[in-house]
Amino acid sequence: MSDSLLDGYLHRRCGGRYARAEETMMVRVSGMSSQVVRHFFRCDKCGDERRTVEQRERAEQTAVAAMREEHQLLTAREIRQLRDALGLTHQQLGDLLYGIPKGIVEGWERGRYVQNPQVDALLRTFTDREALEQRAAKAGVALPVPEGAEPADPAGDGAGDVPEEGAPESPAVDAEAGVARAGD
Ligand SMILES: [Zn+2]
Repeated sequence: MSDSLLDGYLHRRCGGRYARAEETMMVRVSGMSSQVVRHFFRCDKCGDERRTVEQRERAEQTAVAAMREEHQLLTAREIRQLRDALGLTHQQLGDLLYGIPKGIVEGWERGRYVQNPQVDALLRTFTDREALEQRAAKAGVALPVPEGAEPADPAGDGAGDVPEEGAPESPAVDAEAGVARAGD
């Protein structure tokens, strides 16, 4: 239902009318919290509250944007730009981040989900080619060769393919923690 359909709408149960309202509330996601303003409709007689799909989506996106700003996390656009610059698919970027599903990565770029600070820190390391290649080797992700660069390991001697001694088997970051979404 669109916003205009609810404005002034009759609440049949009590005979009141719905009017636009807003509230400031604390939203918590992935252990972070942020204060956001949410818009909704409230019956002027009985106080019943209704939210349209648009209002829910806007509230989610507002919460995600506020969270990113408050915690100085990469924005949706910055994540998209980073992924594009590296020539990675959503799936590949998720794989580099300990198997985060590609739908979550897409959600980050659409401003629907927010990455947690640990994932954010890991993402930032990917601008360093060496760090990126190390992570890719561990995650089993084949990186596209950067434009103008020589193909890696032309001799095919496998140097650099040997796993590091004592490399952690289990993820250092809880992928689940990056999956939480802003919402009610
Ligand atoms: Zn009512």
